[in-house]
Amino acid sequence: MNYENGGVALMDRELAGKHALITGSVSGIGLGIAHRLAREGVNITLHGFGDIDRAQTEIAAYGVEVDYNGSDLRYEDQIAAMMTQDHERYGGSDILICNAGKQYVAPIEDCPPEEYHAIIAINQDAAWLSAHYAVPDMRAKNWGRIIITASAHGKRASPGKSPYVMSKHAAIGLAETLALELAETPITANAICPGWVLTPLVEQQISAKAERDGCTPAEAARRMLAEKQPSGKFVTPRQIGGAAVYLCSSDADEIRGAALSIDGGWTVR
Ligand code: NAD
Repeated sequence: MNYENGGVALMDRELAGKHALITGSVSGIGLGIAHRLAREGVNITLHGFGDIDRAQTEIAAYGVEVDYNGSDLRYEDQIAAMMTQDHERYGGSDILICNAGKQYVAPIEDCPPEEYHAIIAINQDAAWLSAHYAVPDMRAKNWGRIIITASAHGKRASPGKSPYVMSKHAAIGLAETLALELAETPITANAICPGWVLTPLVEQQISAKAERDGCTPAEAARRMLAEKQPSGKFVTPRQIGGAAVYLCSSDADEIRGAALSIDGGWTVR
């Protein structure tokens, strides 16, 4: 630790050389977390679908090692394969960010059961399974960080999102339970609960609302923010990434089982 700047403690690059597996990190919030951790010198395994080459190039620019896994998290055997790769290459990641997620918006009677099962599998089961495989390696290293991207919907419901709201409440429950199970170790588990963040997952909802309301996407976005997020501004992936860096730092050694809202005031109105 450096003590400069008038006695203010400046965090050194204490995370440099650690390894993070971030699910759903080819776009959106996961990529934002990858940027911020890589800036601290953390080697990254990217995961997910989309423009993988672009994500890899962006993260490699920080001079860290970049790996990739393309497991489909709907399937338990592919999650096991992802965690086996992580174990064999890195003795397990020091930092596990369970971030991949899916949304489907419809009233319960119109939501196809296959969409329900996919949301529960990706948002909820994959987080449990990933942690199940990651914790033994973290215990062996005697250090670890588990962060689950939950949501404001882990604390508040919205109509038309029953599978998503269920899965995000479960994500907070998982972080809390892991925090207790690991409380006497240097391994912490926490959830981050974003409000609206402008990512592909939300762009789909903006387009659908624009079509429903017969307005422009910009107007649909404004209405969505006005309904839920008192700040009237989108949260950014970079801001979520900053919170992840903090939760991984030694300053956060005793933050255990938190469900950190970063939601422009959504859940306190
Ligand atoms: P995104 O669409 O950019 O990211 C989702 C990621 O999950 C992508 O990388 C995608 O490839 C991956 N993914 C989806 N289905 C998958 C599957 N079957 N197998 C493997 N990977 C899969 O959206 P985002 O908004 O960045 O979402 C990231 C997380 O943040 C999600 O858990 C989401 O629920 C949560 N979240 C988002 C918001 C928001 O407003 N955008 C708010 C709160 C919480």
